Amino acid sequence: MEISLNIEPVESWGIQSTKPIILSGPCSAETEEQVLTTAKELQALGVQIYRAGIWKPRTRPNTFEGVGSVGLKWLKTVKQETGMLTATEVANVKHVYEALKMGVDIIWIGARTSANPFAVQEIADALTGVDIPVLVKNPVNPDIELWIGAIERIAGAGITKLGAIHRGFSSFEKSRYRNVPQWQVAIELRQRMRNLPIICDPSHIAGVADLVFEVSQKAMDLGQDGLIIESHPNPRVALSDGKQQLTPTQVGELLSKIVVRPEKIDNKEFTESLEELRAQIDMIDDEILEIIQKRMSVVHEIGKNKKANNIRILQTDRWKQIIESVKQKGNSKGLSDEFTEKLFKAIHQESINIQTEILNS
Ligand code: PEP
Ligand code: MN
Repeated sequence: MEISLNIEPVESWGIQSTKPIILSGPCSAETEEQVLTTAKELQALGVQIYRAGIWKPRTRPNTFEGVGSVGLKWLKTVKQETGMLTATEVANVKHVYEALKMGVDIIWIGARTSANPFAVQEIADALTGVDIPVLVKNPVNPDIELWIGAIERIAGAGITKLGAIHRGFSSFEKSRYRNVPQWQVAIELRQRMRNLPIICDPSHIAGVADLVFEVSQKAMDLGQDGLIIESHPNPRVALSDGKQQLTPTQVGELLSKIVVRPEKIDNKEFTESLEELRAQIDMIDDEILEIIQKRMSVVHEIGKNKKANNIRILQTDRWKQIIESVKQKGNSKGLSDEFTEKLFKAIHQESINIQTEILNS
């Protein structure tokens, strides 16, 4: 169901170019010099919003937890010397008051904080009567209701310059990315809150500098509205997230390479061929559903047999054998192991549900 909140377009944030909106700057403010040189280089590239973490929510203790309030002065200098807008993360009421007092222009709520409704509500209450852009990162777990809930709490405080940041989700399983993007969550957020700008954080999704471009490009191709990219003059010595930070020069290269494609065009030939191909896709989707239905009716038969013979649903060896064999076959058809495994796990789960129902009937 679509949720309609009073959200102003990004043009109201006070920046000139908004397609896409670019925020860049270090993961953490470390020294005044680092903060200023990075800002000047980014500003020269046309970046208008400067990000820097002042208070850092670190996973493990005894790592760098940010410089604290002193960094807010450096952000103020950035503003004075470059004219950029400044943005930082707030995780509690004290952060909100201090950031506002020192003239920070945009604040964001980090992923660990947006997973906590109490914390978000306290921040929202502290923002009552304030008119600045507030960006809400997705919670660390892929729970779209929790993300929407955090956005609604901020909107409830009267904030109308609202945005979401898609920074990917934690998972126990190792993947190519530091935080798996689960793009479908952001796609659903767009469907549920049509007028909410969504900014991609390719740095925290990627986890390594080499993958930041491909994640950024994908975000653009999925129609996200902007990018927040971590940048450090010398990422190797950065006090946090060194592996994923780009030098300002690399940010410049990324920005010049990125292609923002329109959603639609008025080209008859293209539209016709797209429609034809989509008609094919629709037909194939119908076939897929029919085939799955066929599989499920066999599953149903087996379920009845299992019930009659009083044996349990899951035979671990059989399942292992299926997954290995489909992965191998999928591989020979050019399908990735990751995809085949996900697909068959979903099918298998549904089969188990069907048989559970039969066994309990
Ligand atoms: C950050 O932006 O540096 C940060 C801590 O991000 P997240 O909340 O997405 O982990
Ligand atoms: Mn970071």
